Amino acid sequence: MARYTGAVCRLCRREGQKLFLKGQRCYTDKCAVKRGTPGQHGQSRRKMSEYGLQLREKQKAKRYYGLLESQFRKYFEMANKMKGVTGDNLLMLLESRLDNVVYRLGFATSRPEARQLVLHGHFDVNGKRVDIPSYLMSVGDVISIRDKSKASAKIKDVLEITDSKLIPKWLELNRDALEAKVVALAGRDDIDLPLEEHLIVELYSK
Ligand code: SF4
Repeated sequence: MARYTGAVCRLCRREGQKLFLKGQRCYTDKCAVKRGTPGQHGQSRRKMSEYGLQLREKQKAKRYYGLLESQFRKYFEMANKMKGVTGDNLLMLLESRLDNVVYRLGFATSRPEARQLVLHGHFDVNGKRVDIPSYLMSVGDVISIRDKSKASAKIKDVLEITDSKLIPKWLELNRDALEAKVVALAGRDDIDLPLEEHLIVELYSK
């Protein structure tokens, strides 16, 4: 499927917020948003219409998770059919994607990098290689870095960078074995993104 391949920092400037798409660079002075150069639209949020606010929130969420409209919409439809709060369900589904889990565990320094590493076949789920970034992880699933990949310079670099990363409590990481278990579904309180998901639900519910 087609992906957005433009300069990712421009997306952050457009949203006026860090979206953490470039790994380590996002935490340095090289980050364009940290340098205080947010996009003009990010600054004019207060003047936006209700529709504009809803649209921006959806765009921001899509960009955090690296999804195109059709994919994102599919998650909304799934979330809407589930019991509970649609916005919470939506975020839980997005968090359950394999590429996001890889990022959350510190097996990649950004979601775009996690997607690449998954596509390159560096991970097993329940002992079998899975190279589908959108694969939805369930409670009880175990993800591990493949034995061959543990020796790769790329993976070693990543693990060094993410050494002290905080792991969300819905994931249980065994850092020595380089494997982790999904012990719960991600709750809203577990998700540190500054998203107002109710705006996305309102947008799609029109
Ligand atoms: Fe966004 Fe990271 Fe680029 Fe900063 S360095 S603008 S957070 S992608």
